[in-house]
Amino acid sequence: MKRVAWIYHPDYLLHSPPFEHPESPERLVAITDHLGKAGLIDRMVVVTPEYPEDTDILSVHDRDYLNRLETACRRGDLTLDSEDTYLNRHSFNVALLSAGGAISGAKAVAEGTADRAFCAIRPPGHHAGPDVGMGFCLLNNAAVAARYLQARHGVGKVLIVDWDVHHGNGTQNIFLEDPSVFYFSIHEHPTFLYPGTGRRWEIGKGKGEGTTLNAPMAPGAGDAEYRTTFEQTLEPAVERFRPEVILVSAGFDAHRDDPLADLMVTEEGFRFMTRHVVALANKFCGGKVVSILEGGYEPSSLTSCIEIHVRELLEE
Ligand SMILES: [Zn+2]
Repeated sequence: MKRVAWIYHPDYLLHSPPFEHPESPERLVAITDHLGKAGLIDRMVVVTPEYPEDTDILSVHDRDYLNRLETACRRGDLTLDSEDTYLNRHSFNVALLSAGGAISGAKAVAEGTADRAFCAIRPPGHHAGPDVGMGFCLLNNAAVAARYLQARHGVGKVLIVDWDVHHGNGTQNIFLEDPSVFYFSIHEHPTFLYPGTGRRWEIGKGKGEGTTLNAPMAPGAGDAEYRTTFEQTLEPAVERFRPEVILVSAGFDAHRDDPLADLMVTEEGFRFMTRHVVALANKFCGGKVVSILEGGYEPSSLTSCIEIHVRELLEE
């Protein structure tokens, strides 16, 4: 069995919506309850996340944006930049601690206190760009973790596998011209789903051309289409890129029961994807996987998929 770090903090529950909203603290309550009852947290390496250093956040986000976010929270604004991205007075601190959670997972894996990590953090991150919050995301947790690994642990090449059903436009933009971070996203086709990016021809720019790979899925696609894409599109790209660490932007909203999208992935699809990523990590990067929670809004499928995901990370 592998050592998998469990990253969670009760303060993640403090960021709560001032109006009806799918991205709520109850998501993490359901996840911790479920994994606890399944006896899985007892079998993981419990790591308490810490607030990040300024430099680690500033490696991704502009100082002006951080100031704007902090001011908006202090002032009592209900949203930031767009109607769907809410704030309360805790949101700035919780967003920092969420990014800090991704860093803590990366640190545990880089320093060898764990082989892998699952970061049960929120708010999610993959829509957040250097100077913008959107799509329920305030700070880009996965991007911060990637930059942290490069700056503090001498990691060269990082692969981000983003299987949230929405395209991670923030992550793509951050690394668009950066050949050291390969961004792969599988998501519902942008014609049908927010945020409207992630078409096949978006492949990176300049020096980063070829290290962005988008696999848009038609509505109704499920386990079979995902499997084919992982085997025929992701795997050859990973063989060429040869990452030193794999980060997963692990959203579970491609599940057939999720209310926010139109895909038909089941528990078995998430089992396959996790197993496939673990196999690639075992082959290319000493098994190092840092999984970072993104979306997933239907409690029953969210928790059952995460249980499977964690069991596969454990290779029990
Ligand atoms: Zn999503």
